[in-house]
Amino acid sequence: MPQQQRHNMGAGGACICPKCDYRGAHRAGIPCQDERRPQCGAKLLREGSHHDQLLQQKRQH
Ligand SMILES: [Zn+2]
Repeated sequence: MPQQQRHNMGAGGACICPKCDYRGAHRAGIPCQDERRPQCGAKLLREGSHHDQLLQQKRQH
């Protein structure tokens, strides 16, 4: 049986801002999406998440 634990990213990692490239430590219990950069108003993304990967792909074009 394959083990699917890729969704479980644990308590570590980082939150990143897609607008200004801010990168900060992810706080346990607070989803990155619930945090907002006052400087630019953008919602943060969890680094390594599906949305982060989409963003990286866009930037490679
Ligand atoms: Zn920002």
